[in-house]
Parts: sequence; C-alpha cells; structure tokens
Amino acid sequence: MTTALSTPKAPPTEDLNSFRIAQDQFDQAVRYMPELDPGVIEFLRQPMRSITVDFPIEKDDGTVGMFQGYRVLHNNVRGPGKGGVRFHPEVSLDEVRALASWMTWKCAVVDVPFGGAKGGVICSPKKLSDTEMRRIARRFISALGDNIGPFTDVPAPDVNTNAGTMAWIYDTYEMMHPGKNNLPVVTGKPVDMGGSLGRREATARGCLFATSRALERGVVPGLESVAGATVAIQGFGNAGSIAAQLFAEAGARIIAVSDSRGGIFSADGLDPDAVIEHKRRTGSVIELPGSRTVTNEDVLTTACDVLIPAAFENQIRADNAERVRARFIAEAANGPTTPAADRILFSRGIPVLPDVLASAGGVTVSYFEWVQNNEYEQWDEAEVNAKLGRRMVRATDAVVDKQQEVNGSLESAKEIGPEKIDLRTAALMVAIGRVARVADSRGIWP
Ligand code: NAD
Repeated sequence: MTTALSTPKAPPTEDLNSFRIAQDQFDQAVRYMPELDPGVIEFLRQPMRSITVDFPIEKDDGTVGMFQGYRVLHNNVRGPGKGGVRFHPEVSLDEVRALASWMTWKCAVVDVPFGGAKGGVICSPKKLSDTEMRRIARRFISALGDNIGPFTDVPAPDVNTNAGTMAWIYDTYEMMHPGKNNLPVVTGKPVDMGGSLGRREATARGCLFATSRALERGVVPGLESVAGATVAIQGFGNAGSIAAQLFAEAGARIIAVSDSRGGIFSADGLDPDAVIEHKRRTGSVIELPGSRTVTNEDVLTTACDVLIPAAFENQIRADNAERVRARFIAEAANGPTTPAADRILFSRGIPVLPDVLASAGGVTVSYFEWVQNNEYEQWDEAEVNAKLGRRMVRATDAVVDKQQEVNGSLESAKEIGPEKIDLRTAALMVAIGRVARVADSRGIWP
C-alpha cells in the first residue's frame, strides 16, 4: 500500500523568486570585479527604499475594494529613480524589488542619469472597468505622496499600464502640486500632453537596435543581420507587438507569436499588422486565419534565428532551456531567463542579449521625454529615434567589448579560475562599475 510517506519527493525545482534571482545575477557579476569595495557591494545589493500602500477605491457597483501597491527605489546615486508601474494579479514586493534593481543596471548600461525604481499594484485589469483602473491609479499615486516626483522618482508604463494610465498619474500629481511644471513627474504620457514621439515604440525599437548591433559584432557566428532572420516572439503587448512590426520592417520573418491565451505559427511568416488587428478584434492572437494555433511553450521552443521573450519573468527555465532552438535570444521582457537557464544556454552556445540592454529602449526614450519636459520642448520623431539608435549601439558595444575583454584575459591567464562570462554578466559588470564609481566619488553621507 502506498502511503503519503512513501510518495517520492518532487525533484528539486529552481528558485523562481525574482529578487533572489536579481541578487544571484549581481553576485555573479561582482565575482569578476575584485576592485569593488565590499561595503559598496552590500549597498548595491539591496533596494534603498521599499514602500507598501493599502488603499480603498469605490467600485462601479458601489462596494469598496481594497488594493495593495508597492513602489521600490533600488538606487539613486546616478539620478532620480526611474521605472514602470505594473498592474497585475501576481505582483509581489519581491518582484517589484527585482524589477527596481534591474532598472538601476539598465539605466547605467545605456548611461542615462537615472537610478532604478519600479512600482506595482496587485489587481486584475481584465476584471476591472476603466473607471476602476483610473481610481486605482489615482489612489496609488496619492498614497505614494512625495515619494515620487520629477527629481526623486519618475514612473512610466509597464505591464497593463499605458499612456492613458500615465495621464492619470500626471493629473493626480499635478492636482497635489499645482503651480509648477510637473510634466517630468512621469514618462510615457500621451504625445499631446508632453509625451515623447517615439516613446510607445521605444522598447521594441531599442531591442531591434541592440540585436542588430550585437549580430553585426559577430555574437552569433553566421548570423550577421536581422534581415532574413526568422523570429519568434512571446508576448504581444507593447514590447512584443511593436517588436514584430519593427523586426518585420527590418526584413525579418516573424514565424511565431504568443499571448496569454496561446500562440500562432506560420513558416511563411505572419503579417504583424494583421495579427495586431486580429488581437484588437478578438482579444488574442490565437486563431488568426492562415496560421497554426500552437501552445505558448511551442513558441519558446520554435526553431528560429531570434527568440524575443516579451511577456514576463521566468519563462526560460531549467525545465525548458534545453529545448530552446533559437540561435540568439533578445530579452525585451524583464527577467525572462532564470540563472539555471542562462547556464544551460551559455553551455549550448546560444547568446542571450540581456534585459538590462535589450529592453532599455523604453527608459532611454523616457529619459528623452523627461529632458524635453524640463525644457518645454518637443523633438521630432526622427531625432528621437536617431538619438536612441546611437545610445543603443554605444551600450551594445560596451557590453560586447566587456565580454571580450574578460573572456580574453581569462583565456590568456590559462589558469583554472572563474569560467567565461555571458553577455548578462558583461552588461551587469558595465552597469555595476558605473554605479559603483559614482557611489565611491560621492562618498557616504554625512
Ligand atoms: P503589455 O501588458 O503591453 O503586454 C504583455 C503581453 O504579454 C500581453 O500580450 C499578454 O497577453 C502577454 N502574456 C501574458 N502572459 C503570457 C504568457 N504566459 N505567455 C505569452 N504571453 C503572455 O506589457 P509590456 O509593456 O509589453 O511588457 C512586457 C514585458 O516587457 C515586461 O517584462 C515588461 O517589464 C517589459 N518592458 C516593458 C517596457 C515598456 O515600455 N512597456 C519597457 C521595458 C521592459
């Protein structure tokens, strides 16, 4: 007879806590940075400030709903905190702490003068009306009070928030602080109220610039360009759907995409505009006429040149990384690959262009928006895109150069020592070095 005691234990699974993953990645990078002061390492490992707020809203049916939200400032030594606000039922404080720390490194990789921050509210946008979402955004921002501000901490869009949400955030802050230029308090605003041209497309465009540059730099032998490459994309929201359009415009063939309800595949290539229109009409990419419906997992493991995770954290893990058949991964999402998956992909020779670089286009144009708002200016879109392109190329070069420098010196040392580094560790080394130098120059107050 089988008893509970004799039931075999489930195999140990990897730790999917995003904050511990972010710290694990940080620890991996600082192993290669013996010049860092141990005190600075401890300082940079932790968020500086984590705020939890509980607030009520009146729901459409007249009842009261309670919500919990978080805003985390990971680090501000290089400038005000910067990072999106996410509305999702699975938001947690640790997830927001991880996302805030990745923002610190992302801002440093693209060298914009911001620190890292992030916010989130636990809620189910699919079950809420627009009015309820507006009340949540307003109460959340008012509860944060002066912990956000144009020169302290500047929110932006993320999962399930968009330009409309940013307009509510701006309006709420403006009501609380009348009589001054509050436009730079939030980025990703509608273009006719201080938003930057090119911001909506910026995350995807940055991913394209960084991918193109990395391929030009030879990170994937035999794949020098996006033109002619086959591409699979997980997630079809702001980052994923626009990536489909921009990669297709650059000559790639989009063979598979997915959203929360499943995926579609077409060996001949999907027309991104048709998929966007189908999703607008039906609520999902699935069942697009002329495509084959597949699972989400199928999209991640499709044989393709470039795989773009553009949905959530922890999608490529120890349990599926062996089955990934892409030649290159560009992380438009934050945190889609776990450390165990990183090791598997590295050993299989599949380079991963990490989130702190490949998804940094959004924050880069958010910085441009902030500058335009402070100067009462509006740049034209070509200027925004050209400036974005230059920053993404410079950042990609810095990361590829760092990887080559470290791996080259390990090779010439010919000692048994630390193993060679992947692009994530190289990007984090670039970022941590930049933040640590400023922390060091400023010193500890008082
Ligand atoms: P979004 O809300 O616009 O889109 C999210 C998409 O992911 C939706 O299409 C949803 O259906 C899909 N999705 C959800 N669960 C899925 C699953 N299990 N499998 C496949 N698809 C699934 O959000 P977004 O702004 O595009 O953000 C996506 C990712 O990009 C997040 O990791 C976010 O942090 C990151 N990011 C966004 C920005 C930005 O400016 N919006 C900037 C940098 C990074």
